[in-house]
Amino acid sequence: MERKRVLITGAAGFLGSHLCDRFIKEDYHVIAMDNLITGDLQNIEHLFALENFEFANHDVSKYVYVPGKLDYILHFASPASPIDYLKIPIQTLKVGSLGTHNLLGLAKNKNARMIIASTSEVYGDPNVNPQPEEYWGNVNPVGPRGVYDEAKRFQEAITMAYHTFHGLETRIVRIFNTYGPRMRLNDGRVLPAFIGQALRGEDLTVFGDGSQTRSFCYVDDLVEGIYRLLLSDYAQPVNIGNPDEITIGQFAEEIIKLTGTTQKVIYKELPVDDPKQRQPDITKAKALLGWEPKVGRAEGLKITYEYFKSLPAEALVNKEHKDFTTYNR
Ligand code: UDP
Repeated sequence: MERKRVLITGAAGFLGSHLCDRFIKEDYHVIAMDNLITGDLQNIEHLFALENFEFANHDVSKYVYVPGKLDYILHFASPASPIDYLKIPIQTLKVGSLGTHNLLGLAKNKNARMIIASTSEVYGDPNVNPQPEEYWGNVNPVGPRGVYDEAKRFQEAITMAYHTFHGLETRIVRIFNTYGPRMRLNDGRVLPAFIGQALRGEDLTVFGDGSQTRSFCYVDDLVEGIYRLLLSDYAQPVNIGNPDEITIGQFAEEIIKLTGTTQKVIYKELPVDDPKQRQPDITKAKALLGWEPKVGRAEGLKITYEYFKSLPAEALVNKEHKDFTTYNR
């Protein structure tokens, strides 16, 4: 039987590369696309020799051409850390808006089903906790996160419009904080930041007083949820994340224990519009997809730490990371 063909954008990134692995495992033909601004070919180089894998270096904000049939499109291209939004704000806006429009056009042309990677950031700094899909959010459009949040909100709107107006098969996953191997060590996100600091023998930088909360999902759980949602018949947004909520202060303590570092926690200024609380309400995912996370934080963090430890020493050099607050000024 002929293989199903899937286009994955952002394929060299953290989530994109794990999705490539999953679809290869399911025996799809995978067309991986990335412009490598934040992605890294090392994340997918193990797939290059396969006959059912191909890579295209392309920016989806420009017209996207893919020869042959397509069954599915997974749009996972986007900068995805607060430092990236500050460094490359225009690209962040374009990939979520123009890029999504191009890919929806491609999906319509190929009669393919498309899933877009939305985010808990559509809820902004939420004043409802946990966040159900029905919550409309509390977003500052002109703050530092606005370029990401509003691009993702637009992305949901245009995707829904293609669904209702053109009858396109679409899916929307709202992804909450996710972690695992292949996160960029220096992207400024809290987990690679803390582990990188521990490995370099630096103090762990907690922003604010550390009372803000997040809920961290292990990447394999997330990929399973996305896979199930794609194959479901539900076009409304679905939260995928792990509801196990923790303060960033507690999280720092867990990383100190995990790594055995003798360094301490130091406190830095809280970035502008940093959400105070975040926890997914996953009632829908449970009911519709029979999905819930399986990997607890202790297990997931251990695997992730082993990954970061296995990287060559030069990966640890703090090339990109600048104190977040310097970008806020
Ligand atoms: N954070 C921190 N120290 C760091 C990096 C991040 O305390 O070195 C905090 C950040 O202020 C936020 C949380 O950790 O409250 C999660 O940050 P991240 O950038 O990973 O993702 P977010 O959920 O904010 O998009």
